[in-house]
Amino acid sequence: MSTSRVPVPDGSDFPIENLPYGVFDPGEGSRIGVAIGAHVLDLPAVSGRLPSTVAEALAAPTLNPFLELGRSAWQETRQRIIGLLSTDEFDRLPDGALHEIESVDMRLPFEPGDYVDFYSSIEHATNLGKMFRPDSEALLPNWRHLPVGYHGRSSSVVVSGTAVRRPSGQLKPLDVPPAYAPTAELDVELEVGFVTGPGNALGEPIPIERAGDHIFGLVLVNDWSARDIQRWEYQPLGPFLGKSFATSVSPWVVTLEALSPFLTAAPDQDPPPLDYLRTPENWAVDLELEVVIQSPGMDEPIVISRTNFSRMYWTMAQQLAHLTSNGTNVRPGDLYASGTVSGADPGSYGSLIEMTWGGERPISLTDGTDRRFLEDGDTVILRGWCDRPGEVRIGFGECVGTVVAGPG
Ligand code: CA
Repeated sequence: MSTSRVPVPDGSDFPIENLPYGVFDPGEGSRIGVAIGAHVLDLPAVSGRLPSTVAEALAAPTLNPFLELGRSAWQETRQRIIGLLSTDEFDRLPDGALHEIESVDMRLPFEPGDYVDFYSSIEHATNLGKMFRPDSEALLPNWRHLPVGYHGRSSSVVVSGTAVRRPSGQLKPLDVPPAYAPTAELDVELEVGFVTGPGNALGEPIPIERAGDHIFGLVLVNDWSARDIQRWEYQPLGPFLGKSFATSVSPWVVTLEALSPFLTAAPDQDPPPLDYLRTPENWAVDLELEVVIQSPGMDEPIVISRTNFSRMYWTMAQQLAHLTSNGTNVRPGDLYASGTVSGADPGSYGSLIEMTWGGERPISLTDGTDRRFLEDGDTVILRGWCDRPGEVRIGFGECVGTVVAGPG
């Protein structure tokens, strides 16, 4: 692999093997860049060194036109950027082509026309089933046959760093009538989302063996959830306002190319899926994940959960093949979230409702308080990184959100 001419600090999420795409604002509007070490390479500033069709797409204030170009254009651009950062070409970069990440504001990297949230962790689905439907089977009969999901709300997908206002909604405690009030059960969901490249024509499903042509890269997703609103509203049509008030994504889209050394086999599925959901390709990602929390009274954030994305029951390729199996169309820049990533033990659960088991076992924080659910002022940070022997570690950066009081 090439050596970056831009210094990359030890342990950086962004070595030259990564080169994730984002949209940054240096104070004069949104521009597309790639992260390298502690810097961002300003792609419009080096457009003369890029293929002309790509240069035009990268002049946009969002990644969508670039996502539409497809895999060969993405691969060519990646090779050109590696050349710019690792050869004598680096000495001829224009002034201002590199910015310190700390000196710029990050924007939402893509404009999601559609947002879908899956439910693909068997541990999470089992835990929620036990809590929401204690008198029946935890997993509903369809769960092992298809990747369950619902269409979410794209308008409230926000970039990391955006404050999350505590939503109000209809709450219905046992034995009393419903009332409209601020949620008392604001939760996080640790998820990983994929962002689509070229779409499919309406009426033409994406076969699972073509999924790789349509997936550009991955982001961390915090699918904030109001459990009390959710519990009352969700039957029979599924999540609605308990989920649609905010969905945070990390600012850097890590490409499938960068992740290729970390693709691995998904867990065995029982029963075997139907043919349209079968593929011999490795579609699980060996991606370490953690959930971190800091209240205003804490000096340092603490890790409250750690898990790995590779054990998800349903893969991205299966999700995309299933989603389009009725012929519906996806478009460049759509966001498809995995569902909460939970492991088998409580230290690896991806939501507070699981970690505290519905609030029965509060988490102790280092400021002397404890949490069943989030309080105003709490900051939640999701982190993700890939690291295996013989490979250079690549990271996703952080997906951060602070809870603030709602209106009124
Ligand atoms: Ca979710």
